[in-house]
Amino acid sequence: MQKVKIPITIDPRNAAARKLDCRGVVELGDFPRLSSMVDELAGDIEVQVSFYRDATGLDVFAGRASVPAVMRCQRCLEPMTVTLSAEFRYAVDPEEVVRLGLEDQFDVAELNGLGEILLCDIIEDELILSLPIVARHPLQDCPAADLLQDQEADGGPEPEERHNPFAALGEMIRNGNSSNS
Ligand SMILES: [Zn+2]
Repeated sequence: MQKVKIPITIDPRNAAARKLDCRGVVELGDFPRLSSMVDELAGDIEVQVSFYRDATGLDVFAGRASVPAVMRCQRCLEPMTVTLSAEFRYAVDPEEVVRLGLEDQFDVAELNGLGEILLCDIIEDELILSLPIVARHPLQDCPAADLLQDQEADGGPEPEERHNPFAALGEMIRNGNSSNS
């Protein structure tokens, strides 16, 4: 399948009137903010987005985006590949969204002076929001997992009790209390 380049900006009202369906890719260089938050974007950013006028008359665009990214596992600090994926649904008329009480169903996209949305910026924002808070291998795949389990097996509460530096102090207090009583 041939991949088209997703437009950086687009007039969403015009696109909705034309019922435009876009499937394609965004070039990696177009996502500098997302790039700076991961070790590497490891493939094309695949995007599917549809523009349409919904039953209430709102001009809407909705779709999904995904990209493989290399991040550091925060347990073992080795690189790992995660697929970032985001789904989104925007309307372009904030007053109408409020009037219809649909605030919980749509994000609202701002139009620039040309009546366009910054489509690639919106997609980048959505993928940034999809970043895992803490990237970690699944435990069974993480090289550090054996180490952690060994530590847990060796460790435990006993050492503190065996070498409690306050044991003698506790003894003195107990002795003192008993002599007072
Ligand atoms: Zn790991």
